[in-house]
Amino acid sequence: MQPFIPYGRQSINEADIQAVVDVLKSDFITQGPAIERFEQAVAQYCGVKFAVSVSNATAALHMACLALDLGPDDTLWTAPNTFVASANCGRYCGASVDFVDIDPATYVMDVAALEAKLKAAQAKGQAMPKVVIPVQFAGQCVEMDRLAQLAKVYGFAVVEDAAHGIGGKYRQKPIGSCQFSEMTVFSFHPVKIITTAEGGMITTNREDLYQTLLRLRSHGITRDERFMRNPSEGPWYYEQTELGLNYRMTDMQAALGHSQMERLDAFVAKRHALAKRYDALLADLPVTRPQQHPDSYSALHLYPIQVNRPELRRPVFEALRAANIGVNVHYMPVYLQPYYRDLGFEPDLCPNAEAYYQRAISLPLYYDLTEAEQDRVIETLKAALS
Ligand SMILES: *Cc1c(COP(=O)(O)O)cnc(C)c1O
Repeated sequence: MQPFIPYGRQSINEADIQAVVDVLKSDFITQGPAIERFEQAVAQYCGVKFAVSVSNATAALHMACLALDLGPDDTLWTAPNTFVASANCGRYCGASVDFVDIDPATYVMDVAALEAKLKAAQAKGQAMPKVVIPVQFAGQCVEMDRLAQLAKVYGFAVVEDAAHGIGGKYRQKPIGSCQFSEMTVFSFHPVKIITTAEGGMITTNREDLYQTLLRLRSHGITRDERFMRNPSEGPWYYEQTELGLNYRMTDMQAALGHSQMERLDAFVAKRHALAKRYDALLADLPVTRPQQHPDSYSALHLYPIQVNRPELRRPVFEALRAANIGVNVHYMPVYLQPYYRDLGFEPDLCPNAEAYYQRAISLPLYYDLTEAEQDRVIETLKAALS
């Protein structure tokens, strides 16, 4: 059996290891200086005012919804072609969730479909979204300027799920700059662009949201007199002013993340080089290659192809797995998950997302993937398709 090739994996070098070891030998292994260093590095990279590190991106999405006061009477809309966390965050707050179909060319939320759905909901007097979560799927950016215009007209807040997106750009500006959103969420799970093992970050330009996120991350507690209800009773005094959580990142994780930030541009450049190579090697095969919107410079978290004949997806997928190639499918539309079916969602809600899902296979793509491994993927794929 040939060695296993996963669809994605971390790249850890000696500097990364040393950064973590240094923290272990220091005074603080959580809530220490590494957290602030990592947050500042991400904020600076993204050109955004504030960054809040958290235990993972699911926690980040939950906190973003809480910070926007999403509650049981509210509605959140997202795209179905995503990991379940993009929708679950609304459910954690007791809100209703609904889905907007994707653009069949870019696989991200179709802003025209969003506008049509908003108009239809308004005309019928149905619930309008309080929060919309565009998902920067595979690193590709939704048409954020048009989305932001709709946000103004219809009065919803925008939280970007950029779990796949750090290191990418939209119209030359880094993803995470929040030019067209209230907040952006990143994930640092090992398969994503940079890693802290588990970890996430929220960026924002709004000071009010930043302060709320800091409190929510740590039990709803504040030590800042500006946010207390009562006069401080002394240097020991803190107040819990709302119901928060413990969603903190450790300093070991932050040190790893800070070290990985140094390599972020190299990570993304390598992904582009490998994707370009895939593009060339796949040119004559009966598959659809992922396209890039000209406004979007993707971090290329994923390289999702579609086999042209849907009935071949399963045998091709099985042949790749049988050859020890860890392909995956991103994603079954979220509303087809049994939990969401139980809430009343039916098939055919988002035909583009369903058609894409029927044919999708994500090929391996990560920083340390070699050209020889890539050739093995292509040879196996070729054989399976013929
Ligand atoms: C990975 C992922 C998340 C969740 O990230 P965690 O850090 O694992 O919680 C959320 N949204 C999308 C699109 C993801 O791919």
